[in-house]
Amino acid sequence: MVILKTDREIKTMKKAGQIAARALQLAGKSIKPGISTLEIDLIIQKYIESQGAKPSFLGYGDFPNSSCISVNNVVIHGIPSKNAVLKNGDIVSVDVGAFFEGFHGDTAFTFACGAIAPEARALLDTTYESLFEGIKMAVVGNRVGDISNAIQRYVEARSYSVVRDFVGHGVGAKLHEDPSVPNFGAPGRGVRLQAGMTIAIEPMINAGTYEVNILPDEWTTVTADGKLSAHFEHSVAITPDGPVILTLP
Ligand code: MG
Repeated sequence: MVILKTDREIKTMKKAGQIAARALQLAGKSIKPGISTLEIDLIIQKYIESQGAKPSFLGYGDFPNSSCISVNNVVIHGIPSKNAVLKNGDIVSVDVGAFFEGFHGDTAFTFACGAIAPEARALLDTTYESLFEGIKMAVVGNRVGDISNAIQRYVEARSYSVVRDFVGHGVGAKLHEDPSVPNFGAPGRGVRLQAGMTIAIEPMINAGTYEVNILPDEWTTVTADGKLSAHFEHSVAITPDGPVILTLP
């Protein structure tokens, strides 16, 4: 069931979104060769808690940390670790959620660590741009499939692939609400978008095959072919005036 939010609730969601966005910015600034993903996670946790918010992911389905940090061939749900030390040329997807005054904000960005290869840069750029292709379609009267299709077309035209096994989602008082927001699919299909819907749009885009594997820790999701993957996410409110990005800092 899709839960519509009032204008007041969307304002509160924007506060949660801002906290998540600023935590993500701080994480980005900290990324350099030699830092561990656990150190980055602690920066995120400290900032979120300093704002009187709670990290959405900490303890979610037993997830052990405040952020997911996924390096290179890790698609999503990488578990921060002191043993995962970044090196020059890595691409680092950081996914952050903040829970504040009853609502979640959810956002992700793939950062470059030092100087990255041109192929990696192109993957990041395309994935980032595809997120905004999707957001553009998040308008009253469209359907979820219009968002999905815009992302898929943009990405596949550039010879990348869209992960099928994980999708975007409604976001609100719960971190994951209806509807599902796939990054692939036919236009004109799925739930019709209404004012007051709040959704997390989050393309997960692979350089090679879209197939993924989940490691024995039951979280870490990697590309089946070992190639790179990127992930960008914004929480977005659908309003009569068009999409409002809740997680822009
Ligand atoms: Mg999400």
